[in-house]
Amino acid sequence: MTDIEETVRKYALLNAYQHGGKAQPKAVLGKILAENPEFRSQAREVASLTSRIVEEINRLTPERQLKILRERWPESLEARKRMAEEKKLPPLPEAEEGRVVTRFSPNPDCVLHLGSARAAVISWMYAKAYKGRFILRFEDTDPRGKRPQLQFYDSIREDLEWLGCRWDEEHIQSMRLPIYYEHAQRLLEKGGAYVCTCKPEKFRSLALAGKPCPCREQPSEVQLERWERMLDGRYREGGAVVRVKTDLSHPNPAVRDWPALRIVDTERWPHPLVGSRFRVWPLYNFSCGRDDHLLGITHIVRGKERLANEVRQKYLYAHLGWKYPVAVHYGRLAITGAELSKSKIKSGMEEGVFKGYDDPRLATLQALR
Ligand SMILES: [Zn+2]
Repeated sequence: MTDIEETVRKYALLNAYQHGGKAQPKAVLGKILAENPEFRSQAREVASLTSRIVEEINRLTPERQLKILRERWPESLEARKRMAEEKKLPPLPEAEEGRVVTRFSPNPDCVLHLGSARAAVISWMYAKAYKGRFILRFEDTDPRGKRPQLQFYDSIREDLEWLGCRWDEEHIQSMRLPIYYEHAQRLLEKGGAYVCTCKPEKFRSLALAGKPCPCREQPSEVQLERWERMLDGRYREGGAVVRVKTDLSHPNPAVRDWPALRIVDTERWPHPLVGSRFRVWPLYNFSCGRDDHLLGITHIVRGKERLANEVRQKYLYAHLGWKYPVAVHYGRLAITGAELSKSKIKSGMEEGVFKGYDDPRLATLQALR
């Protein structure tokens, strides 16, 4: 075998290894000519050699391809591994070693999708990089619209384990409803929130005009009395909602006095874990904002689409005198995150964690690249 054939074979195997067992002839050729300028004068021969060898390599199983690479060019794998390890995340602002706490907080209404898997990996990496803690929190407080399902609690745990993101603590929001109630009551006592019994259309038109609804002006005794009625079932679903006070002239009308807790008819929409025991359910911004503080989350990794929620939650934090965690928007980290996942897939493959590239879980995450 000539030197040139050997070189082509090595590049073809590496490319196949990176692409689920199927090398791309054009990519292989491009790489060979870029890294071996001495072959450029024979580009035509190299091209036909490449297409022949790629065809041959692609007929091998990925396991076989990896075996050949390991035996003949182990240094090429080492170099890739080193490169993957050296790709670090950008430093976290305001982070102290040993004190960083991040979380991943899926709603168990579905399997992990690619975006959330990416957020999980980045959050976990940061916790690990700073020798901190990583928390898994199930946000399952919408028994009606985004109904959680029992099977997904486990499938999410399995996905995280597969990703290698081991969590140090786990919390399930639906198991902690009484704690949310305590905070809601505190907020009502302090005048940071009120129970609104207006028809949604009426509230909306007042909010659009930047005007308070009549409920907002009521003293805290009235608020607490209404709150009791919410809890003991005297209001029907949709009959009352706890709203957090915000600036009524906030430029985004959807931020103005956002809803924090509402009534769900759980006789009709029983929750998979707690059934019909509770009727008052926290909405996303209340449960998420409150838990981030109480669980000591220092850094939140989230997508850009959640920016308005951060704005809403900061009002809650201001009412309760809490410091909002540092938010990192992973839109900015997209490429890094993707590379991380890729390196994980590869090292998992090398360590024999996966039986093959055709592992269906792997196929899902391949799309993360
Ligand atoms: Zn009202």
